[in-house]
Amino acid sequence: MRIWWVDFGELDDQRLLGAHNEIHALHTLIVKQRHPWGGLRWEDEAFIHYVHALTIEEAKDRPGFTMGHDHLSPLPRYTEFVNDLWHTRKELTRLKPFSQRIRQDRWHLWLRWDGEYRGATPWLELPAETQLDYAECHLKLLELGGCPHHEFNTEQGEGPNRGYLLCLGCKRAVRQKHPDGSLGDWEPRGRGRSDQAMTRR
Ligand SMILES: [Zn+2]
Ligand SMILES: [Zn+2]
Repeated sequence: MRIWWVDFGELDDQRLLGAHNEIHALHTLIVKQRHPWGGLRWEDEAFIHYVHALTIEEAKDRPGFTMGHDHLSPLPRYTEFVNDLWHTRKELTRLKPFSQRIRQDRWHLWLRWDGEYRGATPWLELPAETQLDYAECHLKLLELGGCPHHEFNTEQGEGPNRGYLLCLGCKRAVRQKHPDGSLGDWEPRGRGRSDQAMTRR
C-alpha cells in the first residue's frame, strides 16, 4: 500500500482508482485498528480524510468515473480529529521532505508507465518543473536501460502471475520462484487483475 504525493492529476486512471482504494484500506488500518503506518497514526485521521477527498475531487473530472458523483463507500469518521493537516504534514516532512516524496513518486510512475507519460493532466499543462522532473526520470531510465528490478521489493503474483514474484518498482516484470527457492530471470508479467476492466466506483 502507498499514498501518492504527486498532484493526483499526474496519476493515470488505474492508479487513481488504486489510490482511492488504498486510502480506504489505510484509514481502516491506521485509525480503526490504530496501527501506525508510514509516519501516520490514528491522531492523523483529518489528514487521511483530506487525501481521500482529493481522490474524489480528481475523479469528478474524469470521464467514466462515477466515484466522484456517486460515492458508494463514504469514509467513516472514527475519531474527533486530533491533529490538524498542518501538524501531520509537518511530522511527515520531518520523516522525509515532500520534494523527495514527489520526486520518488514520479520515478515510480515513470517506471510503471514504461517511460511514457500517462497522467490525466495533459503533458503540456504540467508545470515546467514537473515536466523537467519527468525528463530527468526519462534520462535515468534510458541510462539504466530499463527498470532496475533488483532495487525493489517484490510481492507474490496473483492469478496468471501465481508462482511468480512481481517487481514493485515497475510492476511490469515477474520472475519465477522455483520450489527449491531459486529464482528465474525477469520476464514481462502476464495479464493481471489490474489490467482487466474495472468497475469505476
Ligand atoms: Zn472513498
Ligand atoms: Zn521493475
